[in-house]
Amino acid sequence: MTEKKENILILGGGQAAFYAASEIRKYNTKSIISIISNEKHLPYERPPLSKDCLLNKMEYSDCHFFNRDFYEKNEINFFNEELVEGVDFLSQKIDTSKRKKISYDKLLIVLGSRNKKSNENYYHLRSMDESMKIKEKMLISENILIIGGGFIGLELASAANQLKKNVCVVERGSQLMGRIIPEKIAKIVQQKHEGKGVVINLNTKVINVIKNQNFYEVELSNNKKIKCDMIIEGIGSEPNTELFMNTDLKIENGILVNEFCETSVENVYAAGDIANFYHPFYKKHIRLESWKHAQNHGVCAGKNIEGQKEIYKEIPWMWSDQYDLNLQLTGLCQDYDTFVERGTCAKEGLIHFFIKNRKIIGACGIGVGGKIGRDVKLASKLSEKKIKLTKEILANKVFKLNKLLTQ
Ligand SMILES: Cc1cc2nc3c(=O)[nH]c(=O)nc-3n(C[C@H](O)[C@H](O)[C@H](O)COP(=O)(O)OP(=O)(O)OC[C@H]3O[C@@H](n4cnc5c(N)ncnc54)[C@H](O)[C@@H]3O)c2cc1C
Repeated sequence: MTEKKENILILGGGQAAFYAASEIRKYNTKSIISIISNEKHLPYERPPLSKDCLLNKMEYSDCHFFNRDFYEKNEINFFNEELVEGVDFLSQKIDTSKRKKISYDKLLIVLGSRNKKSNENYYHLRSMDESMKIKEKMLISENILIIGGGFIGLELASAANQLKKNVCVVERGSQLMGRIIPEKIAKIVQQKHEGKGVVINLNTKVINVIKNQNFYEVELSNNKKIKCDMIIEGIGSEPNTELFMNTDLKIENGILVNEFCETSVENVYAAGDIANFYHPFYKKHIRLESWKHAQNHGVCAGKNIEGQKEIYKEIPWMWSDQYDLNLQLTGLCQDYDTFVERGTCAKEGLIHFFIKNRKIIGACGIGVGGKIGRDVKLASKLSEKKIKLTKEILANKVFKLNKLLTQ
């Protein structure tokens, strides 16, 4: 009798999907692995879409993890332009825009997150196709309005400015990039943009937009009136969970999963942007939207699907690049009792370490080029190893932090 092949279905074809599928194949050469994606492209990484691709420093085709040969060689089925429309967890079947009642033995949900939108007619950036459309329009635009001063909005502002466009950013908060970023670092980023000629409006909302044939007239809450030929909105995102609203899957700011990427439903796993996962180090659930997390969480989900029982305990890390500035965040920059500053400016590298009970719980740094990478990485390690520190040592730029790891 021939052994029945296990049918592993992966919903969503982004970063976590790619890493999970590759990992599953490492352990299991027999199972049927299928990725279902609503996009037309093979899995690709998104960070260059708001940076290098817009500036012609990278081709869109170079964003793909691998070409079609990889999927064929590893016998990973990739179904593109197929929207997942419903999941029946009881019968273990899913419906898509192209097929009905596709069975699975194990299901991995990696549908990512989507942009919040106040107006469908504005440009939004999440996918490769959207990046291509933005690039095309940016090139023929002179005046660009960006609604939202978060990472994506600012990276787009940086790219547009480097393409010699007049850029205006409208942010309703009192600082750029949200309150999680230290005010001093947010100010450095703001000054960089302003120094390049970008107009930043904080504590400001868009009140009214009139669309003319070739341009928009926009009224802001700070009484300014501006004209622009392109509006891009980057006002945050939310997990793609609406498919599961009336199902047994527990949803709470994303799909709730434990430290093994397991959801509340048997044989169903979730990872990446869509998952609100239990982190044993912080002893709480967190949801992250970051490149490294999507990769590592996808790998971990793949291992657990294959019965490897691996706990996910990666220390969070993410970055943003704007002009020559590199910003990095690690750990959690909240619930701290004090913070320490290392360095004074972006040129030499400035890092804020967030401390609780004399241990690092998070760090946020900004530097020109690669100035802060090493110390932020060391902050992750010191945090993971729960090493007790003094403020003086952390603040002392001359003291090499790696010495603390060997003490
Ligand atoms: C423009 C941009 C720039 C970024 N830059 C950085 C950065 O500099 N640093 C950093 O750390 N992180 C960055 N990120 C975040 C990082 O790319 C994401 O966290 C990561 O891609 C999440 O991976 P994922 O697999 O969870 O989701 P995704 O990669 O978003 O994949 C989800 C996939 O599921 C598909 N899908 C959704 N619904 C359905 C459905 N019903 N049926 C079928 N398919 C569906 C989506 O179309 C998508 O292809 C950036 C993100 C974007 C959008």
